[in-house]
Amino acid sequence: MKLGKLLYTGKAKDIYETDHPDEVMIRFRDDITAGDGEKHDKIPMKGYYNSIISAKFFEVLEAANIGTHYIKLVKPGYILARKLEMIPIEVIARNIATGSLTRRYPFKEGQEFKEPIIQIDYKSDEYGDPMLNDDIATALGITTMEELDNIRKITLKVNSTLKGFLKDKGLLLPDFKLEFGRYNSRLLVGDEISPDTCRLWDIKTRRTLDKDLFRRGEGNIIEAYRRVASLILDEEDKKRWKLKDDLL
Ligand code: 5GP
Repeated sequence: MKLGKLLYTGKAKDIYETDHPDEVMIRFRDDITAGDGEKHDKIPMKGYYNSIISAKFFEVLEAANIGTHYIKLVKPGYILARKLEMIPIEVIARNIATGSLTRRYPFKEGQEFKEPIIQIDYKSDEYGDPMLNDDIATALGITTMEELDNIRKITLKVNSTLKGFLKDKGLLLPDFKLEFGRYNSRLLVGDEISPDTCRLWDIKTRRTLDKDLFRRGEGNIIEAYRRVASLILDEEDKKRWKLKDDLL
């Protein structure tokens, strides 16, 4: 596998050019950060698990006819993807009240919503990812009303698709964050979908199996990520991606 020029380096991933101008290679690193990068660590194998979990989620979405940037998992740690013109927003869907929602508003921790809540934040470390409304987003010139409507529709479909898939695997999806980009004239789901960007709870015990373990400084993070991978991947995935049994 040949990597081209490093195009961008984020908090947990690097993006490389490939031989194809419309495609990029995403390398999932073991870095983990929280609180806008204030807390930082390296967790061996985190990139491995996040890449295979993301690949599986993207394939589940593609199978439900949701457009994503995913092309294929080249090998654990590396995803080949369509090169997007990213929109600097973080789109959060919430099914259960927790995290910043219960810190900022009088919701009861663990309260389940009848309808999912969608929240759109401005992705900016400089400004601390403030929440947007449609008028602010369009006045900033980062997106259009039509795109915002489309983004909300796609996010709801991602939510119902992933929630249903995960329920069958014994996992709850309290909330997650998506990023979107433009590809020709289409909006595609980009970035990653992993325990770094989703809350995932054991359906029976409500035990946390995601990055909240790092945010709170508790638990064996990699054991949780490995548990998520072992629950969502099937024998066929393990075979085609040549995953070692002792890692799952
Ligand atoms: P909260 O707003 O409660 O902190 O986060 C809601 C959901 O969005 C969680 O699943 C969280 O992982 C995800 N999320 C929100 N902002 C970010 C972010 O800047 N980075 C990452 N990795 N996930 C985020």
